Amino acid sequence: MIYITVIIVLAIALAAALVRLARLRGGLREMARTLVERREIRRGGLRVTPDYGMGVLIDEINEILAENGRLQRQRSSHLAQLETTLGSLQEAVIVIGSDNTVLLANKALQSLFPDAKNALRQRFERVIRSAAFLEYVEAVRNGTARPQHEIAFDTADGTRWVEATGATIEPPDEPGEPWSLFVLHDITRQKKLEAVRKDFVANVSHELRTPLSLVKGCAETLVDGHREMPDADRDRFLRTIHRHSERLATLIEDLLSLSRLESANPGLNIERVSISQLLHSIADDYRARPSASAHRITADIDPAIGEAGIDAQKITQVFENLLNNALKYTPAGSTITITAKRRPAPAHEGGGNEVEVCVRDNGPGIPGADLPHMFERFYRVDKGRSRETGGTGLGLSIVKHIVQLHGGRVRVESTQGRGAAFFFTLPERK
Ligand code: ADP
Repeated sequence: MIYITVIIVLAIALAAALVRLARLRGGLREMARTLVERREIRRGGLRVTPDYGMGVLIDEINEILAENGRLQRQRSSHLAQLETTLGSLQEAVIVIGSDNTVLLANKALQSLFPDAKNALRQRFERVIRSAAFLEYVEAVRNGTARPQHEIAFDTADGTRWVEATGATIEPPDEPGEPWSLFVLHDITRQKKLEAVRKDFVANVSHELRTPLSLVKGCAETLVDGHREMPDADRDRFLRTIHRHSERLATLIEDLLSLSRLESANPGLNIERVSISQLLHSIADDYRARPSASAHRITADIDPAIGEAGIDAQKITQVFENLLNNALKYTPAGSTITITAKRRPAPAHEGGGNEVEVCVRDNGPGIPGADLPHMFERFYRVDKGRSRETGGTGLGLSIVKHIVQLHGGRVRVESTQGRGAAFFFTLPERK
């Protein structure tokens, strides 16, 4: 009895499974038929296949997978081609999909934005973190962007300026939402140069304006009233004109010197000269000058210093600028010490021997905050004293240029209240 019951239950279960299997086969056959028909319609015809069984379904699925793989390969090969072309460009290039993910970022982009190292498939806002760039991307997509756009990025090393050019492009393989392509050009250097140029023009105008307006004012007064003016006043006006025209002439002379030194052909007249002899003769000359009579000038020049290829006139100008400053900016009774020694040049400076010259004084010195700017054009610590003594604020800048043209370096050391020491080096190899 039990056996009969078990057999009946098994028979029912088997029948139910067979019904389900038949339905499944029907479903699969239907699926196979639809897939084949769709493919045939895509190919331009409808082939009637008598049997849409499992074999057809498996073939069909295999074909779909193969086609998918082909498309994927085609797509990545298009991107790879694009990447190879753009990879060698100096300009940074980024391609962004409609979903804001990065589809391509070339090497140059990585040097511009460190976050671009693993940029692919990331959202671009994580790679280029800038609200201004985000706005530009939107404008390019909407077609409202200017063709070129300057964007400032705040980085750890200060502001970086980039000129961005953006355009929308069609995805290379299948129709879809357009991609956006951006070419980014680093213009930080140009921006800095532009700022320096603007600064320079503003400084020159400012420096010229004061003496020029004084000369003009005095000349006008003399023109109007020189006949009835007391002699003493006339004398005073004429002296003022003379003093300020001298100042203008020095300023223009210094500006011309600087521009010659910065030009492609600075006109150095290099000859082999004994540096120690040159330094001794300038020091002796200064000791004999009445303007230096209130100062003590000592010299300690290493006799081992030999000859070097230099422009003696220009190096004399360097030395005189430093000595004149030491005289100008220290009170009477101060000591100025000239030292020169020969020593091996640092390896990164090309090796060999170099001469280091130092002009040291025991005057008021220079505040720490001013030290990094001392060799900049028009930089003055003591503005009043500089102008009073006919200074242009260009002397140390000229010193730096001449020394650098000789392959040397300049630096300054000072502790406020305890004097200043200006150093320059000259390589002996030249
Ligand atoms: P300037 O024509 O004004 O002397 P420089 O370029 O030669 O221009 O010097 C720049 C500034 O550096 C000077 O205005 C002065 O304030 C400061 N300076 C230069 N040498 C010394 C020194 N030996 N001691 C103190 N300050 C100095």
